[in-house]
Amino acid sequence: MKIFCVGRNYADHAKELGNAIPDEPVIFMKPKSALLQAHTPFYYPEFTNELHYECELVLRISKNGKYIQDKFANKYYDAVTVGIDFTARDIQNELKEKGLPWEKAKAWDNSAAIGKWVPFTNLKNKKDIQFALNKNGEEVQKGSSTQMIHDFDYIVSYISNYFSVNIGDLIFTGTPAGVGELVVGDEIEGFMESESLLKLEVK
Ligand code: MG
Repeated sequence: MKIFCVGRNYADHAKELGNAIPDEPVIFMKPKSALLQAHTPFYYPEFTNELHYECELVLRISKNGKYIQDKFANKYYDAVTVGIDFTARDIQNELKEKGLPWEKAKAWDNSAAIGKWVPFTNLKNKKDIQFALNKNGEEVQKGSSTQMIHDFDYIVSYISNYFSVNIGDLIFTGTPAGVGELVVGDEIEGFMESESLLKLEVK
């Protein structure tokens, strides 16, 4: 199982971190060990002093493929949920400054949390999926799939030109503006179409 992530896929988020809006999707990966298993506590990692949440729509790949054309890409994913791309922002900033890879900031154990899956067949409007994140009961992030610079089909097609996609792979599709810091004791809750799909506390 592979976890693909898209960076800078919402213009307002790229802007808040001072990044240029890319022409092509920015792709990075997290290993399988990054996936926070259900009913497992999330612990604040000891190596960072600036843990950030990034709430994102996550796709589940349902068919093996390579060199998938954009127009057929929707046959390759079957469910969506909200997830958190946990980021050690202090480490990421250091690495970015030096032009080094991001793994130490993004790909550590339990840095990818996902909510309950919702099959696409259950969604009324597959092109406009609303999602939000609450921190300690207050909304901190809010977005819609319509705000993505690169849409689901383009992302799946693009990724498949470089990597085979396989059943069970996950794609974190990018975060809207409003990312921010977490401290021990914070509770976050992710919503899609107003339904709570993910809830966790930072231990
Ligand atoms: Mg992200």
